[in-house]
Amino acid sequence: MTRSTKTLCPYCGVGCGLEVSPPAAPGKPTNRDKQGNPIWKVKGDRSHPSSQGMVCVKGGTIAEALDKDRLKYPMMRDSLDEPFRKVSWDEAFDRIVDRIQTARFLHGPDSICMYGSGQFQTEDYYTAQKLLKGCLGTNNFDANSRLCMSSAVAGYIQSFGSDGPPCCYDDLEETDCAFLIGTNTAECHPIVFNRLRKHHKKNRNVKMIVVDPRKTQTAEAADLHLAINPGTDIDLLNGIANLLMRWGKINTLFIEDGTQNFPAYAEVIAHYPPELVARKCGIRLDDLEKAARYWADSKRVLSMWSMGINQSSEGTAKVRTIINLHLMTGNIGKPGAGPFSLTGQPNAMGGREAGGLAHILPGYRVVKNPQHRQEVETYWKLPGFINSNPGLAAWDMILGLETGDVRVFWVAATNPAVSMPDIERTKAALRKSNFTVMQDAYYPIETAAYAHVLLPAAQWGEKSGIMTNSERVVTYCRAFRDPPGQARADWEIFAEVGRRLGFGEYFPWRNSADVYGEFVGLTRDRLCDMTGLSHDRLAELGPIQWPCPEGMAEEEVKNSSKRLYTNLEFATPDKRAKFAAYHSKGLAEPADAEFPLVLTTGRVYEHWHTQTRTGRIEKITKKHPHPFIEIHPRDADKLGIDNDTWVKVRSRRGEGNFLARVTKAIAPGTVFVPMHWGALWAENSEANALTHPEACPDSLEPELKACAVQLVPLATQ
Ligand code: SF4
Repeated sequence: MTRSTKTLCPYCGVGCGLEVSPPAAPGKPTNRDKQGNPIWKVKGDRSHPSSQGMVCVKGGTIAEALDKDRLKYPMMRDSLDEPFRKVSWDEAFDRIVDRIQTARFLHGPDSICMYGSGQFQTEDYYTAQKLLKGCLGTNNFDANSRLCMSSAVAGYIQSFGSDGPPCCYDDLEETDCAFLIGTNTAECHPIVFNRLRKHHKKNRNVKMIVVDPRKTQTAEAADLHLAINPGTDIDLLNGIANLLMRWGKINTLFIEDGTQNFPAYAEVIAHYPPELVARKCGIRLDDLEKAARYWADSKRVLSMWSMGINQSSEGTAKVRTIINLHLMTGNIGKPGAGPFSLTGQPNAMGGREAGGLAHILPGYRVVKNPQHRQEVETYWKLPGFINSNPGLAAWDMILGLETGDVRVFWVAATNPAVSMPDIERTKAALRKSNFTVMQDAYYPIETAAYAHVLLPAAQWGEKSGIMTNSERVVTYCRAFRDPPGQARADWEIFAEVGRRLGFGEYFPWRNSADVYGEFVGLTRDRLCDMTGLSHDRLAELGPIQWPCPEGMAEEEVKNSSKRLYTNLEFATPDKRAKFAAYHSKGLAEPADAEFPLVLTTGRVYEHWHTQTRTGRIEKITKKHPHPFIEIHPRDADKLGIDNDTWVKVRSRRGEGNFLARVTKAIAPGTVFVPMHWGALWAENSEANALTHPEACPDSLEPELKACAVQLVPLATQ
């Protein structure tokens, strides 16, 4: 193959288009890394509507990780004390099928769990749902999206009657005011931020507000940075609402025609006078008023958020409180306005479409709804198979391993031995597992240390399939090379296990186009209708935004689906969006005398999640050789901590050592640690040794963003 292939960056939910060319072009020298491995060439795809040719350092360097430390063959062992031995696919499949059948017979289907990933393509997600929720009759499929954006899903469903971000990236260039809360967009969604920053720089009247306890690169670019105390987001949002009410800057017509429950909300926000709110949030009163004034004076306000809102024990309440502001000001369903959650993983959106969480079903359906279950069962020809209860969410799977109720734990394309909260407890539970399958492209990887079977998975560029980004743009990602060794696409592995379990008729597909063709049938007449999409059509027309129902003409598909709810009819039974009335509860574990600082976690621009890929890219590891902790000079002075010295950080659950960065970029009383380092990359420096699993009761998303810690300079140990 010599020509370039258009595909999608497999890192974050921005979903940038990439063009990949082979390492050797005719008549040109082969592109190689320092070890002599040929490197595929990657550049931004100018024709992709979301990224318009831009890429960040992660997308630009991704090809360097393609051939490093690849898992090429199935491997197996009988106990965790033994080394792995190479086995055939038949042996690996036999073992997995035997363990699933035994668990099912002796302990019931709910003793089987799969923990998947937003790295999946939609076909992988869909096949796993059919296997677990359909054939096996357990809803125990959850994905790492649970740790990332399940609060946004719950918030959208509760406020609008359906999941689905109502905005698009073009809104970045059409807004009068960008309200960024709990998102370091400049580092975590860089190309989205590039588009916004250009618009902001070009138009002096456009305002940017950033709410974050840290002065991040995102905050540096803002007109107004509100460094609120961790856990006071709802206070701030209710405080802004209070001011808008006082000033009469609400959209009465919109509230009357398009919403319900406003009186209860109005009663709650009356308890948030600005003086009280400013004090509680730790910000100046005039800054709070300025933020409310920006909202009041803007015709089009676009809110964006990610983990800083979602990863919270009141994550759903926070999401809904953001949405409240949009409903009270009529900032939705029009260009440049709306509540826009930015997803973390490249295809977390595809997971939502395909039912890739323990409480949902394909086509934006929910497990608890009997009609939804019946629709999916009928489509699958598996009547009565879908369990009426939601399955185990991510952390509950860990608890199930702890108690022994989970007998088969199948992990694919994610790394829970680094990314789960309370990591020592997680590792202890993984160690107790009766049988764990780890399916991944890379080895070593931290979670493999707890696995009995390793399955080699094809990754980005080695399988053709579909991904949906944060703005509902669906892209066909064409394979440009073969998988190494015996690696296979995730969906092929799931389908083969299904066949060997005796469900062959439900997995008749010859290729991923067939899988996608079956999947889109389940979106018919749903909000996320994709019946007008297929591999062939996407390959021919390029990326397309949903909804895209069957029969939508070519000229329509490019422009007609940019925004949801443009007719101001929502997906609730009475077509009205619902105001939520929440008082703030604050952090699940606030600072106290023993653990006097609040730790917040996050990411750096160059690294991605647990470094499975970026830890293998020299340019990136050189830039970030050590995990670090940001401390305000006032706290550092008090504790005798110098810049660039090692600090022990302790919480109620564990401890870790981090290199001190003394900086005014973090507020006093708060410290920051990036979450990227697991045991493979740095000994005893794991952010999640410190975090706790207390979760939002609605979304079950743990509060990975905040816990109480104490700091001790290592020299004084
Ligand atoms: Fe990839 Fe996200 Fe960077 Fe785009 S912004 S190149 S999708 S990591």
